[in-house]
Amino acid sequence: MGLNDNASNDAPGANNKHEQILFTGVIEVNQQKCYASVTMHLSEKFSVPDDIALLYDFVNSLDLRRYVEGGQVHVPDDELDSAAKLQAWLRNRGAIAKKATLSAQDLGRALALRDALRSFLQLAPAERAADAAIAAQINAAAAHFPMTLAMGKAGAITLQSGSLTGGLSRVLAEFYQLSVTDRLDRMKMCASDECSWIFYDRSKPGNRRWCSSTLCGNREKIRVYRNRQKQGYTGD
Ligand SMILES: [Zn+2]
Repeated sequence: MGLNDNASNDAPGANNKHEQILFTGVIEVNQQKCYASVTMHLSEKFSVPDDIALLYDFVNSLDLRRYVEGGQVHVPDDELDSAAKLQAWLRNRGAIAKKATLSAQDLGRALALRDALRSFLQLAPAERAADAAIAAQINAAAAHFPMTLAMGKAGAITLQSGSLTGGLSRVLAEFYQLSVTDRLDRMKMCASDECSWIFYDRSKPGNRRWCSSTLCGNREKIRVYRNRQKQGYTGD
């Protein structure tokens, strides 16, 4: 029940106002959709396409935001800082066999995969194809998460993890889905050094640099302006 169901079923639709929800409406959204003692998935707080909900949650399980907004300091956090936490994270999303127990090695592989994906997404889309080192990093990390195909009784075909503990292969399936639907360039890391949030760019031109132009974008513009003032820049 509740959030133990597939997260993507509940993810907000395209009409949600990402920027408002992202920083000012989280508490309100939490209150509206409060499921007793169950933490809401990120993909349900923020506006992301249903078919990349697990990927979005996974790459943002490392939250490096450390700016002050509305008097509140964001404290960096890692949702996956132990094998037990990774296991609970996957179980909460129905992405691991019930009897599976994760080891320190499983955690290491998961973090290597997250690191590889974040490193890739940090690159500007135009630079990604040419970066052989990142490609090698992703290939090495992905090798531990094989996938297989399953056909149900009614003929429905689904991709499944190739191992009991390999629920993160679904993350790779979603990454692949972004690629084959020409949307990979829309998934990016916020350009603010104090943020590094991975966001999905819904803008028509797909050229946004910040997860929120009204918050991260403005902060950056103010910083650039102040630096120019310090350096005696007088403008045009
Ligand atoms: Zn940001």
